[in-house]
Amino acid sequence: MSVAITDLSKDLIPDAVTTEICIVGSGCGGATAARLLAEAGHEVVVLEEGRDLVGVERNQRDRDMYDQLYMDRGGRATSDLSVSVLQGRVLGGGGVINACDVVPTPEPVMAHWADKYGLEDFAPSHFGSFQEDALDDLSASRIPESLVNSANNKLRIGAEALGYRGDVMMHNRVGCQGLGTCLIGCPVHAKRNPRMVALPKAIAAGAQVFTRARAVEIRHSGKELKELCVRTLDPLGYHEQGELTVRAKVVIVAANAIASAQLFLRSGIGNEHVGRNLMLQPQLPVIGFFEEEIDAFELVPQSYAVTEFEQEDNEDLGLWGYRIEGIMGTPGIVSTLLPLSGADGMQDMAQYNRMAASLLLAPDQPSGQVEVGQDGRLIIQYAQRPDHQERLREAVYNTARIYLEAGATRVVVPTARPLVIRSTGEAKEARDITFAPASAPLISAHQQGTVRMAPSERDGGADLDGKVYGTRGIYVFDSSVFPTSASSHTMTPIIATSRMLTTKLLTRLP
Ligand SMILES: Cc1cc2nc3c(=O)[nH]c(=O)nc-3n(C[C@H](O)[C@H](O)[C@H](O)COP(=O)(O)OP(=O)(O)OC[C@H]3O[C@@H](n4cnc5c(N)ncnc54)[C@H](O)[C@@H]3O)c2cc1C
Ligand code: SF4
Repeated sequence: MSVAITDLSKDLIPDAVTTEICIVGSGCGGATAARLLAEAGHEVVVLEEGRDLVGVERNQRDRDMYDQLYMDRGGRATSDLSVSVLQGRVLGGGGVINACDVVPTPEPVMAHWADKYGLEDFAPSHFGSFQEDALDDLSASRIPESLVNSANNKLRIGAEALGYRGDVMMHNRVGCQGLGTCLIGCPVHAKRNPRMVALPKAIAAGAQVFTRARAVEIRHSGKELKELCVRTLDPLGYHEQGELTVRAKVVIVAANAIASAQLFLRSGIGNEHVGRNLMLQPQLPVIGFFEEEIDAFELVPQSYAVTEFEQEDNEDLGLWGYRIEGIMGTPGIVSTLLPLSGADGMQDMAQYNRMAASLLLAPDQPSGQVEVGQDGRLIIQYAQRPDHQERLREAVYNTARIYLEAGATRVVVPTARPLVIRSTGEAKEARDITFAPASAPLISAHQQGTVRMAPSERDGGADLDGKVYGTRGIYVFDSSVFPTSASSHTMTPIIATSRMLTTKLLTRLP
Protein backbone atom coordinates (compact mmCIF):
# COMPACT_ATOMS: atom_id res chain seq x y z
CA MET A 1 0.00 0.00 0.00
CA SER A 2 2.89 2.36 0.66
CA VAL A 3 3.97 4.46 -2.30
CA ALA A 4 6.93 6.72 -2.99
CA ILE A 5 5.90 10.31 -2.37
CA THR A 6 7.97 13.43 -1.79
CA ASP A 7 6.67 15.55 1.09
CA LEU A 8 7.89 19.07 0.37
CA SER A 9 7.35 20.15 3.98
CA LYS A 10 10.24 17.87 4.95
CA ASP A 11 12.21 16.51 2.02
CA LEU A 12 15.00 18.45 0.37
CA ILE A 13 14.31 19.24 -3.27
CA PRO A 14 15.97 21.27 -6.03
CA ASP A 15 14.67 24.79 -6.79
CA ALA A 16 13.35 23.69 -10.17
CA VAL A 17 12.03 20.52 -11.79
CA THR A 18 11.38 19.98 -15.48
CA THR A 19 8.90 17.38 -16.68
CA GLU A 20 6.79 16.56 -19.71
CA ILE A 21 3.43 16.76 -17.90
CA CYS A 22 2.53 18.48 -14.65
CA ILE A 23 -0.80 17.68 -12.98
CA VAL A 24 -2.23 19.95 -10.29
CA GLY A 25 -4.40 18.00 -7.84
CA SER A 26 -4.33 14.31 -6.90
CA GLY A 27 -8.08 13.65 -6.63
CA CYS A 28 -10.47 11.84 -8.94
CA GLY A 29 -9.52 13.92 -11.98
CA GLY A 30 -5.76 14.34 -11.37
CA ALA A 31 -4.92 10.84 -10.12
CA THR A 32 -6.80 9.22 -12.99
CA ALA A 33 -4.94 11.32 -15.57
CA ALA A 34 -1.59 10.68 -13.83
CA ARG A 35 -2.14 6.94 -13.91
CA LEU A 36 -3.12 6.73 -17.59
CA LEU A 37 -0.35 9.06 -18.75
CA ALA A 38 2.37 7.40 -16.67
CA GLU A 39 1.23 3.94 -17.77
CA ALA A 40 1.52 5.12 -21.37
CA GLY A 41 5.17 5.98 -20.69
CA HIS A 42 4.95 9.75 -20.18
CA GLU A 43 6.88 11.71 -17.62
CA VAL A 44 4.45 12.98 -14.98
CA VAL A 45 4.74 15.16 -11.89
CA VAL A 46 1.69 15.50 -9.60
CA LEU A 47 1.39 18.50 -7.28
CA GLU A 48 -0.83 18.13 -4.21
CA GLU A 49 -1.36 20.78 -1.56
CA GLY A 50 -2.49 18.25 1.07
CA ARG A 51 -0.32 15.63 2.70
CA ASP A 52 -0.44 11.86 2.55
CA LEU A 53 -2.35 10.84 5.63
CA VAL A 54 -2.94 7.12 5.99
CA GLY A 55 -3.64 4.31 8.46
CA VAL A 56 -3.58 5.13 12.16
CA GLU A 57 -2.90 8.79 11.37
CA ARG A 58 -6.57 8.87 10.38
CA ASN A 59 -7.37 8.95 14.04
CA GLN A 60 -11.17 9.33 13.77
CA ARG A 61 -11.10 12.60 15.75
CA ASP A 62 -13.17 15.41 14.22
CA ARG A 63 -10.78 18.07 15.50
CA ASP A 64 -7.69 16.62 13.78
CA MET A 65 -9.30 15.21 10.67
CA TYR A 66 -11.27 18.27 9.49
CA ASP A 67 -8.08 20.23 10.12
CA GLN A 68 -5.89 17.94 8.02
CA LEU A 69 -8.22 16.45 5.42
CA TYR A 70 -10.41 19.39 4.37
CA MET A 71 -9.84 22.65 2.49
CA ASP A 72 -9.67 25.60 4.88
CA ARG A 73 -9.83 23.07 7.74
CA GLY A 74 -13.49 22.42 6.90
CA GLY A 75 -14.39 26.11 7.25
CA ARG A 76 -14.64 27.08 3.57
CA ALA A 77 -17.86 28.92 2.74
CA THR A 78 -19.48 31.24 0.23
CA SER A 79 -18.80 34.95 0.74
CA ASP A 80 -22.20 35.49 2.42
CA LEU A 81 -21.65 32.40 4.64
CA SER A 82 -24.83 30.81 3.26
CA VAL A 83 -23.23 27.61 1.97
CA SER A 84 -20.48 25.56 3.59
CA VAL A 85 -18.21 24.41 0.75
CA LEU A 86 -16.64 21.07 1.64
CA GLN A 87 -13.63 19.78 -0.30
CA GLY A 88 -10.82 17.34 0.36
CA ARG A 89 -7.26 18.57 0.83
CA VAL A 90 -5.16 15.45 1.12
CA LEU A 91 -3.33 13.10 -1.23
CA GLY A 92 -6.20 11.42 -3.10
CA GLY A 93 -8.48 14.46 -2.75
CA GLY A 94 -12.20 14.30 -2.03
CA GLY A 95 -12.35 10.53 -2.51
CA VAL A 96 -10.51 10.15 0.80
CA ILE A 97 -13.22 11.93 2.78
CA ASN A 98 -16.34 11.33 0.75
CA ALA A 99 -19.33 9.11 1.48
CA CYS A 100 -18.40 6.53 -1.20
CA ASP A 101 -21.69 6.87 -3.09
CA VAL A 102 -21.24 5.73 -6.65
CA VAL A 103 -23.83 7.44 -8.83
CA PRO A 104 -22.86 7.55 -12.51
CA THR A 105 -23.99 10.24 -14.93
CA PRO A 106 -27.43 9.13 -16.14
CA GLU A 107 -27.70 8.46 -19.88
CA PRO A 108 -30.29 11.22 -20.42
CA VAL A 109 -27.82 13.73 -18.94
CA MET A 110 -25.07 12.54 -21.30
CA ALA A 111 -27.47 12.92 -24.23
CA HIS A 112 -28.56 16.35 -22.98
CA TRP A 113 -24.93 17.56 -22.98
CA ALA A 114 -24.29 16.16 -26.44
CA ASP A 115 -27.49 17.55 -27.96
CA LYS A 116 -27.97 20.86 -26.17
CA TYR A 117 -24.35 21.89 -25.49
CA GLY A 118 -22.60 20.30 -28.47
CA LEU A 119 -20.40 18.07 -26.27
CA GLU A 120 -20.48 15.14 -28.66
CA ASP A 121 -17.93 13.09 -26.68
CA PHE A 122 -20.45 12.83 -23.86
CA ALA A 123 -23.00 11.03 -26.03
CA PRO A 124 -23.90 7.77 -24.22
CA SER A 125 -22.47 5.64 -27.05
CA HIS A 126 -19.02 7.15 -26.41
CA PHE A 127 -18.91 8.33 -22.79
CA GLY A 128 -20.68 5.20 -21.56
CA SER A 129 -17.58 3.05 -21.94
CA PHE A 130 -15.44 5.51 -19.92
CA GLN A 131 -18.05 5.42 -17.23
CA GLU A 132 -17.86 1.62 -17.20
CA ASP A 133 -14.07 1.91 -16.73
CA ALA A 134 -14.63 4.37 -13.89
CA LEU A 135 -16.94 1.87 -12.20
CA ASP A 136 -14.18 -0.73 -12.51
CA ASP A 137 -11.65 1.69 -10.97
CA LEU A 138 -14.02 2.10 -8.05
CA SER A 139 -14.81 -1.64 -7.69
CA ALA A 140 -18.39 -0.40 -7.61
CA SER A 141 -21.01 -2.66 -6.06
CA ARG A 142 -24.34 -2.43 -4.26
CA ILE A 143 -23.92 -1.80 -0.51
CA PRO A 144 -24.63 -5.13 1.20
CA GLU A 145 -27.68 -5.25 3.46
CA SER A 146 -25.41 -6.10 6.40
CA LEU A 147 -23.91 -2.57 6.17
CA VAL A 148 -27.18 -0.65 5.90
CA ASN A 149 -27.67 0.84 9.35
CA SER A 150 -30.93 1.32 11.18
CA ALA A 151 -31.02 5.07 10.44
CA ASN A 152 -30.94 4.50 6.69
CA ASN A 153 -33.50 1.76 7.25
CA LYS A 154 -35.84 4.28 8.90
CA LEU A 155 -35.76 6.26 5.65
CA ARG A 156 -36.48 3.09 3.70
CA ILE A 157 -39.32 1.99 5.99
CA GLY A 158 -41.04 5.37 5.79
CA ALA A 159 -40.53 5.72 2.03
CA GLU A 160 -41.84 2.22 1.31
CA ALA A 161 -44.88 2.81 3.51
CA LEU A 162 -45.69 5.91 1.46
CA GLY A 163 -45.04 4.09 -1.80
CA TYR A 164 -41.98 6.15 -2.78
CA ARG A 165 -39.27 4.78 -5.05
CA GLY A 166 -35.88 4.35 -3.44
CA ASP A 167 -32.89 2.05 -3.34
CA VAL A 168 -29.83 0.92 -1.45
CA MET A 169 -26.97 2.84 -3.06
CA MET A 170 -23.87 1.65 -4.93
CA HIS A 171 -20.50 2.26 -3.26
CA ASN A 172 -16.75 1.88 -3.71
CA ARG A 173 -15.85 0.08 -0.48
CA VAL A 174 -14.11 -3.29 -0.28
CA GLY A 175 -13.55 -4.76 3.17
CA CYS A 176 -15.58 -2.10 4.99
CA GLN A 177 -15.69 -2.71 8.74
CA GLY A 178 -18.61 -0.39 9.35
CA LEU A 179 -16.73 2.06 11.59
CA GLY A 180 -18.94 4.87 10.29
CA THR A 181 -16.25 7.56 9.98
CA CYS A 182 -16.11 7.79 6.20
CA LEU A 183 -16.37 11.60 6.19
CA ILE A 184 -13.16 11.95 8.19
CA GLY A 185 -11.22 9.25 6.38
CA CYS A 186 -11.27 5.49 6.51
CA PRO A 187 -8.57 4.18 8.87
CA VAL A 188 -8.73 0.67 7.40
CA HIS A 189 -8.50 1.81 3.76
CA ALA A 190 -11.72 0.17 2.66
CA LYS A 191 -12.42 2.94 0.12
CA ARG A 192 -11.31 2.13 -3.41
CA ASN A 193 -10.53 5.81 -4.00
CA PRO A 194 -7.79 7.57 -6.01
CA ARG A 195 -5.35 7.24 -3.09
CA MET A 196 -5.76 3.46 -3.10
CA VAL A 197 -6.19 2.75 -6.82
CA ALA A 198 -4.98 5.34 -9.36
CA LEU A 199 -2.08 6.91 -7.42
CA PRO A 200 -0.24 3.67 -6.55
CA LYS A 201 -0.57 2.64 -10.20
CA ALA A 202 0.68 6.05 -11.39
CA ILE A 203 3.68 5.86 -9.08
CA ALA A 204 4.43 2.27 -10.05
CA ALA A 205 4.51 3.51 -13.65
CA GLY A 206 7.01 6.24 -12.74
CA ALA A 207 4.94 9.30 -11.81
CA GLN A 208 6.48 11.60 -9.22
CA VAL A 209 4.17 12.95 -6.52
CA PHE A 210 4.90 16.07 -4.47
CA THR A 211 2.72 16.72 -1.42
CA ARG A 212 2.43 19.98 0.53
CA ALA A 213 2.98 21.56 -2.90
CA ARG A 214 0.58 24.38 -3.70
CA ALA A 215 0.53 25.63 -7.30
CA VAL A 216 -0.06 29.38 -7.12
CA GLU A 217 0.55 30.54 -10.67
CA ILE A 218 1.00 29.18 -14.17
CA ARG A 219 3.23 31.37 -16.31
CA HIS A 220 3.90 31.46 -20.08
CA SER A 221 0.52 29.95 -20.94
CA GLY A 222 1.03 30.56 -24.66
CA LYS A 223 4.52 29.03 -24.85
CA GLU A 224 5.62 25.47 -25.35
CA LEU A 225 7.24 25.26 -21.90
CA LYS A 226 4.98 26.46 -19.09
CA GLU A 227 6.26 27.38 -15.66
CA LEU A 228 4.35 26.62 -12.46
CA CYS A 229 5.17 28.64 -9.40
CA VAL A 230 4.76 26.24 -6.47
CA ARG A 231 4.80 27.18 -2.79
CA THR A 232 5.80 24.48 -0.34
CA LEU A 233 3.87 24.31 2.93
CA ASP A 234 4.74 23.46 6.52
CA PRO A 235 3.93 19.91 7.78
CA LEU A 236 0.45 20.87 8.99
CA GLY A 237 -0.22 22.86 5.82
CA TYR A 238 -0.93 26.15 7.56
CA HIS A 239 1.82 28.35 6.09
CA GLU A 240 3.80 28.65 2.90
CA GLN A 241 7.50 28.12 3.57
CA GLY A 242 9.43 27.71 0.34
CA GLU A 243 9.24 27.88 -3.41
CA LEU A 244 9.75 25.50 -6.31
CA THR A 245 9.43 26.01 -10.06
CA VAL A 246 8.04 23.20 -12.18
CA ARG A 247 8.48 23.49 -15.94
CA ALA A 248 6.23 21.38 -18.15
CA LYS A 249 5.06 21.15 -21.74
CA VAL A 250 1.58 20.02 -20.73
CA VAL A 251 -0.24 21.23 -17.64
CA ILE A 252 -3.41 19.47 -16.44
CA VAL A 253 -5.32 21.26 -13.71
CA ALA A 254 -7.66 19.00 -11.73
CA ALA A 255 -7.76 20.79 -8.42
CA ASN A 256 -11.59 20.72 -8.09
CA ALA A 257 -14.10 23.11 -9.66
CA ILE A 258 -13.25 25.82 -7.13
CA ALA A 259 -9.44 25.62 -6.96
CA SER A 260 -8.95 25.01 -10.69
CA ALA A 261 -10.77 28.24 -11.54
CA GLN A 262 -8.90 30.01 -8.74
CA LEU A 263 -5.54 28.97 -10.20
CA PHE A 264 -6.48 30.09 -13.71
CA LEU A 265 -7.76 33.44 -12.41
CA ARG A 266 -4.62 33.97 -10.31
CA SER A 267 -2.56 33.27 -13.41
CA GLY A 268 -4.64 35.52 -15.68
CA ILE A 269 -5.37 32.49 -17.88
CA GLY A 270 -8.47 31.89 -20.00
CA ASN A 271 -11.43 33.89 -21.19
CA GLU A 272 -14.32 35.60 -19.41
CA HIS A 273 -16.06 32.25 -18.75
CA VAL A 274 -13.39 31.13 -16.28
CA GLY A 275 -14.83 31.23 -12.76
CA ARG A 276 -18.41 31.68 -13.95
CA ASN A 277 -21.34 29.20 -14.07
CA LEU A 278 -20.56 27.76 -10.64
CA MET A 279 -22.99 25.13 -9.38
CA LEU A 280 -22.78 24.14 -5.71
CA GLN A 281 -25.69 21.69 -5.41
CA PRO A 282 -26.34 22.88 -1.84
CA GLN A 283 -27.78 20.15 0.41
CA LEU A 284 -29.96 20.68 3.46
CA PRO A 285 -29.83 18.31 6.47
CA VAL A 286 -33.05 17.20 8.19
CA ILE A 287 -33.06 15.13 11.38
CA GLY A 288 -35.64 12.64 12.62
CA PHE A 289 -35.60 11.89 16.37
CA PHE A 290 -36.83 8.46 17.46
CA GLU A 291 -37.69 6.98 20.83
CA GLU A 292 -35.64 3.85 20.34
CA GLU A 293 -31.87 3.71 19.99
CA ILE A 294 -30.79 3.82 16.36
CA ASP A 295 -27.00 4.10 16.62
CA ALA A 296 -26.70 5.77 13.23
CA PHE A 297 -22.95 6.17 13.76
CA GLU A 298 -22.48 2.44 13.19
CA LEU A 299 -22.03 0.84 9.76
CA VAL A 300 -22.17 2.83 6.51
CA PRO A 301 -23.33 6.43 7.08
CA GLN A 302 -25.05 6.87 3.71
CA SER A 303 -26.64 3.83 2.10
CA TYR A 304 -30.28 4.47 1.16
CA ALA A 305 -31.68 7.11 -1.21
CA VAL A 306 -35.27 8.04 -1.96
CA THR A 307 -35.23 8.69 -5.71
CA GLU A 308 -38.99 9.15 -6.22
CA PHE A 309 -38.67 12.90 -6.81
CA GLU A 310 -35.59 12.89 -9.01
CA GLN A 311 -35.86 13.51 -12.77
CA GLU A 312 -32.95 12.39 -14.90
CA ASP A 313 -34.37 13.60 -18.19
CA ASN A 314 -35.66 17.13 -17.82
CA GLU A 315 -35.59 18.41 -21.39
CA ASP A 316 -34.44 21.96 -20.54
CA LEU A 317 -32.32 21.37 -17.46
CA GLY A 318 -30.99 17.80 -17.53
CA LEU A 319 -30.91 16.35 -14.02
CA TRP A 320 -33.64 17.94 -11.90
CA GLY A 321 -36.01 17.43 -8.97
CA TYR A 322 -34.33 16.22 -5.78
CA ARG A 323 -33.38 13.12 -3.85
CA ILE A 324 -33.35 12.32 -0.15
CA GLU A 325 -30.34 10.41 1.19
CA GLY A 326 -29.73 9.01 4.65
CA ILE A 327 -26.54 10.34 6.30
CA MET A 328 -24.74 10.40 9.62
CA GLY A 329 -21.71 12.32 10.80
CA THR A 330 -19.35 12.08 13.72
CA PRO A 331 -20.39 14.01 16.90
CA GLY A 332 -18.31 17.12 16.11
CA ILE A 333 -19.93 17.87 12.78
CA VAL A 334 -23.41 16.84 13.93
CA SER A 335 -23.24 19.25 16.87
CA THR A 336 -22.42 22.12 14.51
CA LEU A 337 -25.38 21.27 12.29
CA LEU A 338 -27.98 21.02 15.05
CA PRO A 339 -29.84 24.29 15.48
CA LEU A 340 -29.60 24.81 19.22
CA SER A 341 -26.60 25.68 21.36
CA GLY A 342 -25.84 25.77 25.06
CA ALA A 343 -27.91 23.56 27.38
CA ASP A 344 -30.58 22.98 24.67
CA GLY A 345 -27.92 21.89 22.20
CA MET A 346 -26.47 19.52 24.80
CA GLN A 347 -29.90 18.00 25.28
CA ASP A 348 -30.22 17.38 21.54
CA MET A 349 -26.72 15.90 21.37
CA ALA A 350 -27.65 13.57 24.23
CA GLN A 351 -30.06 12.07 21.68
CA TYR A 352 -27.20 11.38 19.22
CA ASN A 353 -27.95 7.64 19.29
CA ARG A 354 -31.64 8.28 18.55
CA MET A 355 -31.20 10.42 15.44
CA ALA A 356 -31.70 9.46 11.81
CA ALA A 357 -30.63 12.23 9.45
CA SER A 358 -31.00 12.86 5.74
CA LEU A 359 -29.46 15.22 3.24
CA LEU A 360 -31.82 16.77 0.70
CA LEU A 361 -29.97 16.99 -2.55
CA ALA A 362 -31.32 19.14 -5.38
CA PRO A 363 -29.26 19.90 -8.49
CA ASP A 364 -28.95 23.61 -9.23
CA GLN A 365 -28.52 25.76 -12.30
CA PRO A 366 -25.33 27.82 -12.55
CA SER A 367 -25.74 30.73 -10.15
CA GLY A 368 -22.35 31.35 -8.66
CA GLN A 369 -18.87 32.57 -9.47
CA VAL A 370 -15.33 31.95 -8.28
CA GLU A 371 -13.29 35.13 -7.95
CA VAL A 372 -9.88 35.97 -6.59
CA GLY A 373 -9.17 38.94 -4.38
CA GLN A 374 -5.87 40.39 -3.28
CA ASP A 375 -2.99 37.89 -3.04
CA GLY A 376 -5.07 35.27 -4.84
CA ARG A 377 -7.55 35.09 -1.95
CA LEU A 378 -10.53 32.95 -2.89
CA ILE A 379 -14.01 34.47 -3.07
CA ILE A 380 -16.98 32.19 -3.75
CA GLN A 381 -20.13 34.07 -4.74
CA TYR A 382 -23.35 32.11 -4.85
CA ALA A 383 -27.00 33.11 -4.99
CA GLN A 384 -29.42 30.29 -4.30
CA ARG A 385 -32.17 30.51 -6.90
CA PRO A 386 -35.87 30.54 -5.97
CA ASP A 387 -36.49 27.27 -7.85
CA HIS A 388 -33.82 25.58 -5.71
CA GLN A 389 -35.37 26.91 -2.51
CA GLU A 390 -38.77 25.70 -3.65
CA ARG A 391 -37.56 22.15 -4.32
CA LEU A 392 -35.83 22.04 -0.92
CA ARG A 393 -39.08 23.13 0.81
CA GLU A 394 -40.92 20.34 -0.95
CA ALA A 395 -38.13 17.91 -0.01
CA VAL A 396 -38.39 18.94 3.66
CA TYR A 397 -42.12 18.28 3.56
CA ASN A 398 -41.65 14.80 2.09
CA THR A 399 -38.73 13.90 4.35
CA ALA A 400 -40.73 14.86 7.42
CA ARG A 401 -43.64 12.70 6.23
CA ILE A 402 -41.25 9.77 5.65
CA TYR A 403 -39.67 9.98 9.13
CA LEU A 404 -43.04 10.45 10.82
CA GLU A 405 -44.35 7.41 8.95
CA ALA A 406 -41.30 5.47 10.20
CA GLY A 407 -42.14 6.42 13.80
CA ALA A 408 -40.15 9.62 14.48
CA THR A 409 -41.43 11.62 17.43
CA ARG A 410 -40.20 14.87 15.86
CA VAL A 411 -38.40 16.01 12.77
CA VAL A 412 -36.08 19.00 13.00
CA VAL A 413 -34.96 21.29 10.20
CA PRO A 414 -31.91 23.08 11.60
CA THR A 415 -32.65 26.54 10.23
CA ALA A 416 -31.79 29.65 12.29
CA ARG A 417 -35.29 29.52 13.71
CA PRO A 418 -35.55 25.74 13.88
CA LEU A 419 -38.57 24.12 12.33
CA VAL A 420 -39.83 21.31 14.55
CA ILE A 421 -42.37 19.01 12.91
CA ARG A 422 -44.44 16.55 14.95
CA SER A 423 -47.27 15.79 12.52
CA THR A 424 -47.98 15.73 8.81
CA GLY A 425 -50.00 18.92 9.27
CA GLU A 426 -46.97 20.67 10.75
CA ALA A 427 -44.84 19.43 7.83
CA LYS A 428 -46.66 22.00 5.69
CA GLU A 429 -44.75 24.70 7.59
CA ALA A 430 -41.79 23.79 5.38
CA ARG A 431 -43.25 26.30 2.90
CA ASP A 432 -42.29 29.09 5.36
CA ILE A 433 -38.54 28.36 5.28
CA THR A 434 -37.12 31.61 3.88
CA PHE A 435 -33.54 30.58 3.07
CA ALA A 436 -32.47 34.09 4.02
CA PRO A 437 -28.65 34.41 3.79
CA ALA A 438 -26.83 32.24 6.33
CA SER A 439 -30.09 31.07 7.90
CA ALA A 440 -29.96 27.40 6.87
CA PRO A 441 -26.97 25.03 7.15
CA LEU A 442 -26.59 24.42 3.41
CA ILE A 443 -23.69 22.14 2.52
CA SER A 444 -21.98 21.81 -0.85
CA ALA A 445 -19.97 18.70 -1.71
CA HIS A 446 -20.47 18.61 -5.49
CA GLN A 447 -19.08 21.80 -7.01
CA GLN A 448 -19.20 21.97 -10.81
CA GLY A 449 -19.08 24.20 -13.85
CA THR A 450 -16.48 26.99 -13.47
CA VAL A 451 -14.62 26.35 -16.74
CA ARG A 452 -17.54 25.15 -18.80
CA MET A 453 -16.70 23.08 -21.85
CA ALA A 454 -18.07 24.38 -25.15
CA PRO A 455 -17.34 23.89 -28.87
CA SER A 456 -16.84 27.65 -29.23
CA GLU A 457 -14.86 30.11 -27.16
CA ARG A 458 -17.96 32.30 -27.16
CA ASP A 459 -19.83 29.82 -24.94
CA GLY A 460 -17.27 28.32 -22.59
CA GLY A 461 -13.83 28.35 -20.99
CA ALA A 462 -12.48 25.03 -22.32
CA ASP A 463 -12.69 23.30 -25.69
CA LEU A 464 -13.85 19.75 -26.33
CA ASP A 465 -10.39 18.41 -25.40
CA GLY A 466 -10.55 20.15 -22.03
CA LYS A 467 -7.92 22.66 -23.24
CA VAL A 468 -8.40 26.08 -21.72
CA TYR A 469 -9.20 28.54 -24.52
CA GLY A 470 -6.36 30.93 -25.28
CA THR A 471 -3.63 28.65 -23.94
CA ARG A 472 -1.13 26.25 -25.40
CA GLY A 473 -1.23 22.85 -23.67
CA ILE A 474 -3.08 23.83 -20.49
CA TYR A 475 -6.03 21.56 -19.70
CA VAL A 476 -8.72 21.19 -17.08
CA PHE A 477 -9.83 17.63 -16.27
CA ASP A 478 -12.38 17.93 -13.47
CA SER A 479 -16.00 18.92 -12.83
CA SER A 480 -15.19 22.50 -13.84
CA VAL A 481 -16.03 21.48 -17.41
CA PHE A 482 -19.60 20.27 -16.72
CA PRO A 483 -22.31 22.51 -18.26
CA THR A 484 -25.04 21.25 -15.91
CA SER A 485 -25.11 18.81 -12.98
CA ALA A 486 -23.51 15.54 -14.07
CA SER A 487 -25.13 13.49 -11.34
CA SER A 488 -26.32 13.78 -7.78
CA HIS A 489 -22.73 12.71 -6.92
CA THR A 490 -19.61 13.77 -8.78
CA MET A 491 -16.85 11.22 -8.10
CA THR A 492 -17.80 8.74 -10.82
CA PRO A 493 -18.53 11.39 -13.50
CA ILE A 494 -15.17 13.08 -12.80
CA ILE A 495 -13.18 9.84 -13.05
CA ALA A 496 -14.99 9.00 -16.30
CA THR A 497 -14.42 12.49 -17.71
CA SER A 498 -10.74 12.43 -16.79
CA ARG A 499 -10.41 9.00 -18.39
CA MET A 500 -12.06 10.26 -21.58
CA LEU A 501 -10.05 13.50 -21.82
CA THR A 502 -6.77 11.76 -20.98
CA THR A 503 -7.40 9.11 -23.63
CA LYS A 504 -7.98 11.93 -26.12
CA LEU A 505 -4.82 13.74 -25.02
CA LEU A 506 -2.77 10.55 -25.43
CA THR A 507 -3.61 10.46 -29.13
CA ARG A 508 -1.98 13.87 -29.57
CA LEU A 509 1.15 13.42 -27.45
CA PRO A 510 4.37 12.41 -29.19
C1 LIG B 1 -17.75 15.48 2.36
C2 LIG B 1 -17.88 15.06 0.92
C3 LIG B 1 -18.64 13.94 0.62
C4 LIG B 1 -18.79 13.56 -0.72
N1 LIG B 1 -19.45 12.40 -1.00
C5 LIG B 1 -19.46 11.94 -2.27
C6 LIG B 1 -19.99 10.66 -2.56
O1 LIG B 1 -20.41 9.93 -1.67
N2 LIG B 1 -20.00 10.26 -3.86
C7 LIG B 1 -19.52 11.05 -4.87
O2 LIG B 1 -19.60 10.65 -6.03
N3 LIG B 1 -18.99 12.26 -4.61
C8 LIG B 1 -18.92 12.70 -3.33
N4 LIG B 1 -18.32 13.88 -3.05
C9 LIG B 1 -17.75 14.65 -4.17
C10 LIG B 1 -16.46 14.07 -4.70
O3 LIG B 1 -15.68 13.54 -3.67
C11 LIG B 1 -15.72 15.18 -5.44
O4 LIG B 1 -16.54 15.69 -6.46
C12 LIG B 1 -14.43 14.69 -6.06
O5 LIG B 1 -13.58 14.18 -5.08
C13 LIG B 1 -13.76 15.84 -6.80
O6 LIG B 1 -12.68 15.32 -7.52
P1 LIG B 1 -11.59 16.30 -8.14
O7 LIG B 1 -10.52 15.47 -8.69
O8 LIG B 1 -12.24 17.30 -9.01
O9 LIG B 1 -11.07 17.16 -6.92
P2 LIG B 1 -10.60 16.71 -5.49
O10 LIG B 1 -10.90 15.30 -5.22
O11 LIG B 1 -11.12 17.75 -4.56
O12 LIG B 1 -9.02 16.83 -5.58
C14 LIG B 1 -8.39 18.03 -5.82
C15 LIG B 1 -7.09 18.04 -5.05
O13 LIG B 1 -6.34 19.18 -5.49
C16 LIG B 1 -5.66 19.73 -4.39
N5 LIG B 1 -5.42 21.14 -4.73
C17 LIG B 1 -6.33 22.13 -4.82
N6 LIG B 1 -5.73 23.27 -5.19
C18 LIG B 1 -4.41 22.97 -5.36
C19 LIG B 1 -3.28 23.76 -5.75
N7 LIG B 1 -3.39 25.05 -6.06
N8 LIG B 1 -2.09 23.14 -5.80
C20 LIG B 1 -1.96 21.81 -5.50
N9 LIG B 1 -3.00 21.05 -5.11
C21 LIG B 1 -4.21 21.63 -5.05
C22 LIG B 1 -6.60 19.53 -3.22
O14 LIG B 1 -5.87 19.51 -2.02
C23 LIG B 1 -7.26 18.20 -3.54
O15 LIG B 1 -6.64 17.12 -2.88
C24 LIG B 1 -18.17 14.31 -1.75
C25 LIG B 1 -17.40 15.42 -1.43
C26 LIG B 1 -17.25 15.79 -0.11
C27 LIG B 1 -16.43 17.00 0.21
S1 SF4 C 1 -17.71 2.75 7.29
FE1 SF4 C 1 -16.33 1.39 6.15
S2 SF4 C 1 -15.43 2.72 4.60
FE2 SF4 C 1 -16.38 4.08 6.11
S3 SF4 C 1 -14.70 4.56 7.49
FE3 SF4 C 1 -15.74 2.76 8.31
S4 SF4 C 1 -14.62 0.97 7.52
FE4 SF4 C 1 -14.06 2.74 6.31
